[in-house]
Amino acid sequence: MTNRGEAADFAVLPLGGAGEIGMNMYLYGWGRGLDRQWFMVDCGVMFGDATTPGIDIILPDIEFIEDRRDHLAAILITHAHEDHIGAVAHLAHRLGAPVHGTKFALLLIRNKLEELGLEDAVELKEAKPGKRYRFGEVAVEWIPVTHSLPEPNALAFFTPAGTVVHTGDFKIDRTPTIPPRFSFDRFRQLGDAGVEALVCDSTNAPKPGRSPSEKEVAEELRRIITRAPHRVAVTTFSSHVGRIRAVAEAAEEAGREVVVAGFAMRRVIEAAREVGLLEPRHRFLDEDAYGYLERDRVLLLCSGSQGEPNAALSRIASDSHRNIALEEGDCVIFSSFTIPGNEKAVFSVVNRLAMLGVEVIMNTPERLVHTSGHPRQDELKELYDLVRPRRLVPMHGEFLHMRAQQKLAQAHGIGETALMADGELLRLAPGPAEVLAQVESGQWHLDGRLLTPGENGPTRQRRKLAYVGVVALSVALNHKGDIRGAVQLITEGLPEMTEHGELMEDVLIDAADAALEGMGRARRRNDEAVIDTLRLAVRRAARAEWGKKPVVHVLVQRV
Ligand SMILES: [Zn+2]
Ligand SMILES: [Zn+2]
Repeated sequence: MTNRGEAADFAVLPLGGAGEIGMNMYLYGWGRGLDRQWFMVDCGVMFGDATTPGIDIILPDIEFIEDRRDHLAAILITHAHEDHIGAVAHLAHRLGAPVHGTKFALLLIRNKLEELGLEDAVELKEAKPGKRYRFGEVAVEWIPVTHSLPEPNALAFFTPAGTVVHTGDFKIDRTPTIPPRFSFDRFRQLGDAGVEALVCDSTNAPKPGRSPSEKEVAEELRRIITRAPHRVAVTTFSSHVGRIRAVAEAAEEAGREVVVAGFAMRRVIEAAREVGLLEPRHRFLDEDAYGYLERDRVLLLCSGSQGEPNAALSRIASDSHRNIALEEGDCVIFSSFTIPGNEKAVFSVVNRLAMLGVEVIMNTPERLVHTSGHPRQDELKELYDLVRPRRLVPMHGEFLHMRAQQKLAQAHGIGETALMADGELLRLAPGPAEVLAQVESGQWHLDGRLLTPGENGPTRQRRKLAYVGVVALSVALNHKGDIRGAVQLITEGLPEMTEHGELMEDVLIDAADAALEGMGRARRRNDEAVIDTLRLAVRRAARAEWGKKPVVHVLVQRV
């Protein structure tokens, strides 16, 4: 790998984002071997679910790059979605490299760093689209695209081996509701000059056609809001400023005041004002104002589109919100889509709203109240035609999505395609694309305040406990092996009674007592033997009565 005679190359090494939608983290490197000059593109998280009990946030395992932090030139941020910036506040201070991004993303990152008291530990550097930022032999440019929040960017790397374009998340929307415009001209110029590789968003690659424009959604929202007889509530992703602006404009036209419920949304609105995407005439009132407004004069903008139990909408649906209530004849618009895995939670909220007599509008082809921020096939092909890359590498998708894009690119005549996977170092230029090395990659869990291993960390044990419960035993013995007191036992998560009506704890204590007696004095001098014998006896007895084997812990006290 570190053969000095080898030519330098530009390569990509995803630590997250290739093979999953979430925790995007792509290392790009110029040089030779594993100790090249590295750039980290995005530093995102994924959210936990029922398979990760107690874990809200999952991050990429960064051990590989942490070991090489002296080689990391910069952390480059494409845009401010959590799957791209959510890990910055947890990881950047360990890496030491400055974080470069456009203003809106840096505002949200700074908020998070302040929350954790790390604002002085990470250097933030604002990047301006259209300028080139030089790091040794490599230069980087942020290129505005359209997506579903302010300031989405692609990145171009200009390297001695040629140009590589990383799309970030994008769609091609000719009529967005907020700036910027998609950079057609800049992509075409790059294509004219020659692009070695395009590393491209795959989220919607299986879908034919084009995703509808934000403008169409804004028009539908305006139609619904101006015609609604009573209260209207709109829930959307809190970072979706274009959508928030569209809702504010519809409210203005309908003569309604906008009330905001949700901390994250309020914070994004403040950041959007700072970058000039919301104007002073767009008024956003606090929850307290809700009670004073007539039913047909209010528009509620709230968090909770994914059914999050603590979000405003879920509490409103349970009629347990401090300031806000909805009633028969009011209307809730889900200007969102349900992220896979959240269906149950969302339907629980929808059902509770239905019980209140509230009309619920969700996105359908007939009622377009949401559109994706990712490109479908015709948009991908349009970008291919602008950039005309020598090779295409799909990213930001599960393998299903990345394969779909690979096939699309092949059918569209791109000569070379390559799939990448987390932990694989893939050469991009000079070609051909080729896996050069495999490094450790994986997941970390944010467990309370601590970062823990995802594979073999505490979550694994908790998952097991959730299925079988735990038994803790304590026995007192002297050094000669005499029993000095009754076996003590605690169970957690086991059935209380057997089918014969005995207490499960009694059955297990009897089994432990018998096993301890049966060991004989000499063997009881050995702690390991006592622990093994009791664990086995209790697990056997539990299986006989219950049909399942609990986790068993034995504490031996020598008195
Ligand atoms: Zn994303
Ligand atoms: Zn995004």
